[in-house]
Amino acid sequence: MSINLQTPIDYLKGVGSSRATLLKKELGIATFQDLLNLFPNRYLDRTKYFKINELVNSNAEIQVIGRIIKFQDVGTGRAKRLVATFTDQTGSMELVWFRGAKWIKESLKLNTDYVVFGKTNVFANKHSMPHPEIELLSEHENGLRSAMQAIYPSTEKLSNRGISNRVITKIMQQLFLETKGKFSETLPENLRSDLKLITKSEALFNIHFPKNSELLSKAQFRLKFEELFYIQLQLILKNLIHKSKIKGFPFTEIGTYFNTFFTQHLPFELTGAQKRVLKEIRNDLGSNAQMNRLLQGDVGSGKTIVALMTMLMALDNGFQACLMAPTEILSVQHYNGLLELCKPLNIRIELLTGSSKTSKRKTIHEALESGDLQILIGTHALLEDKVKFKNLGLAIIDEQHRFGVEQRSKLWKKNTNPPHVLVMTATPIPRTLAMSVYGDLDISMIDELPAGRQPIKTVHRFDNNRLKVFNFIRQEIKKGRQVYVVYPLIQESESMDYKDLMDGYESIARDFPMPEFQISIVHGKMKPADKEFEMQRFVKGETQIMVATTVIEVGVNVPNASVMIIESAERFGLSQLHQLRGRVGRGSEQSYCILMTSHKLSEDSKTRLQTMVRTNDGFEIAEVDLNLRGPGDIMGKQQSGILNLRIADMVKDKDLLELARFHAKKILNNDPSLALESNKVILNTYKQMGKYKNIWNYIS
Ligand code: ADP
Ligand code: MG
Repeated sequence: MSINLQTPIDYLKGVGSSRATLLKKELGIATFQDLLNLFPNRYLDRTKYFKINELVNSNAEIQVIGRIIKFQDVGTGRAKRLVATFTDQTGSMELVWFRGAKWIKESLKLNTDYVVFGKTNVFANKHSMPHPEIELLSEHENGLRSAMQAIYPSTEKLSNRGISNRVITKIMQQLFLETKGKFSETLPENLRSDLKLITKSEALFNIHFPKNSELLSKAQFRLKFEELFYIQLQLILKNLIHKSKIKGFPFTEIGTYFNTFFTQHLPFELTGAQKRVLKEIRNDLGSNAQMNRLLQGDVGSGKTIVALMTMLMALDNGFQACLMAPTEILSVQHYNGLLELCKPLNIRIELLTGSSKTSKRKTIHEALESGDLQILIGTHALLEDKVKFKNLGLAIIDEQHRFGVEQRSKLWKKNTNPPHVLVMTATPIPRTLAMSVYGDLDISMIDELPAGRQPIKTVHRFDNNRLKVFNFIRQEIKKGRQVYVVYPLIQESESMDYKDLMDGYESIARDFPMPEFQISIVHGKMKPADKEFEMQRFVKGETQIMVATTVIEVGVNVPNASVMIIESAERFGLSQLHQLRGRVGRGSEQSYCILMTSHKLSEDSKTRLQTMVRTNDGFEIAEVDLNLRGPGDIMGKQQSGILNLRIADMVKDKDLLELARFHAKKILNNDPSLALESNKVILNTYKQMGKYKNIWNYIS
C-alpha cells in the first residue's frame, strides 16, 4: 500500500494545520488512521427530502431543498441573530444563526438551490432551523454520497469552529480518495470465509459511506468482531506467554496438612463444584507455570474453604501463603474462621491490618522473614514494602473487584518468582466482563451451593408497613434467630445517612427494649476495635439485632442470622443488595430478606427490587446489573480501560464477544505462536499492537 496511514492529517487535502490541531485536541485524531477509525455514532436516512409544508415539530434531523430569498439581522445583545428566509414551492421557513453572521452572509448566495440539513423547531408559528448544515444542491448531487449519512462524534468546540459533520464527511471522502479506499486486510482469509466477514476495505467503506443498510450491518459486524477478536487474542496470548515464560513454584506434594485436613477435619462434605475447582487449582499448582486464576462463585457458595485448602497445598510444599481482603471486618473474620479450622493442624496464622499495633507488626515481620509464620491474613497492609516473606508461594485475593490491577501486581513482587495467585469474586461477574477484564486469567466457577440450603425468601415492603416487619422480627428472634438491619451509607451525604442510621437505631431500640433484646451497632465512624467488639457480640449470639451500614456488606458469616432487613433499599445497587442478602441463608433455617423502600421509586429501582424478589441467582442478577449500569460502573474505573470499546458494545454484543473469544482460542490452540502461513496476518497485526495503546491504531 502506497499511502502510509501514519501520515499526519495535516497532509490531507482540506485539512489545514489549524483544523488538524483542533481535530487532534478535540477528538484525538492525528493521523489518517485515526480518522479512518473515527466510527460514526449513528446514521441518517438522506434519501428523503422534506417539503416545507410537510414539516412537523418532531425535533428529528431532516433535509430540505430550497433557496434563500433574503437575510435579516434580528434582535440585540445575546438574542442577536441572522435570519434567512428559505423557501421551496410549498412554503417558507427560517434558517437562524446566532454566530458567524458576517461570514454566512458573504458565503451564501441568494436565489440559489441549496440543501439544508438540521433539526427544526417551531418559533413564532414558523418552522426554523438553527445552525443548519448547508450545501449547494449541485455539490450535494456530486458528492460521494450514500443513502445512510454517517453522523460522527463531535464536540461543541468543533461545531463552533465550523468543523461540522459535513466537513468531517468531506475530509473522510478525501481520505478515501487519496487511499483509493484500499486498506490491508487484518483478518485471515479462512476466518473471514468461515464467518462470512466482508473484507477490511469493504467494511471501512461501508461504515463511513454505507451503500445500504445490509452492507452497513455487515460492516459493523466485521469491525466489531475484529475489535473483540484482537482484545481476546491479546488476553489469551498474554495468558499463554505468561505460562510459558513465568516459572511458578511447582507444588508437587499433596502432603500432611492437606491430607489431614481433608480426611479428618473437613467440617462438611465438599460440593461437586468445590471438588472440581480444587482439582483445577491443583493442576495449575502442580505444573511448572505460575497460577493466575479467578475463582467465581455466588455468595455463600463456599469459596473460603477452597482458599484454605489451596493454602494448605502451599504449606505442604514448604511455602508461605497470604490472603488479602478489602476490609478490616472481612479480614478479621477470615482470620477467626481459618484459625478455628486450622486449630487441629498446628499452623501459625496471623492477622495484619491497618490497625495492628506496632509491637504486633514487628513480631509479624520477623516471623514472616524467618518463615515461622505460615499464613498471613489481612487488608492492603499486606502490600506494604515492610512486609517481606521468607518464601511466599501463594497469594489469594478475596473480593478482587475492590482492588486494582496494580495491587495484584504488587503481590507478585513479594518473592523472587511471583507466587501463585488466586483471585476470588464477591458476587458473580457477567461472563462478558469476566472475559474482558479477567480474560488473561484462567477461570474456575463454583456453580453449586452447598446441599440443604433453603432459598432465601425476598419481599419488598413499603416504609409504612414497618410495624408488621417489626412483629415479624420479633417472632424470628423468639425462635432463636438473629437479624440484620442495614442502612445505606453513601459518601456524599454521609452526615445525613449517619442520622438515618442513628434514628433507625433508636426506633429499633425502643421497639426491642433491653434486657429482653440486645442490639449491636456497627458503622464506618467507629474505631476498628469497637467495630470488632460489636461484631463479635453478634457472632457469639449475645446480641440478636445488628444495626449496621454497608460495612458488613462483604463476607460476614453468621449462620444463625436469618433475617436481613435493608432500609432505603432503592438506594443500593443490585450487586450490593445481593451481597447483603447473602449474609443470611447461611444456616439450615429458612431465611428472609426484606427490602424496605418509600413509595417514590425510579424505574431502575423498581427493576432492581423486582429482580431481587424474583431470583436468588447471582449470575442472573449480574446480567441485569450489567444492563442497568453498563460495564464501566460495574467494574470500577481502575479496571475499565479494556472496557472502552470503539465500536462493539459489552452489553449489546455479548454473543459476538463469545464468538470472538471462541475463535481466538481455537486459533491459538492450533497454532500458539501464530506461525502458520494462514495466521501470518494475525501475527503481523498483533505485533503492531505492542506499539500502540489504542487498539484501533494498529487494526488498519
Ligand atoms: P463465599 O463463597 O460467599 O465466600 P463462604 O466460603 O463464606 O462463602 O461459605 C458460606 C458458608 O457455607 C460458610 O458458613 C461455610 O462454612 C459453608 N460451606 C461452605 N462449603 C460448604 C459445603 N460444602 N457444605 C456445607 N457448608 C458449606
Ligand atoms: Mg467470601
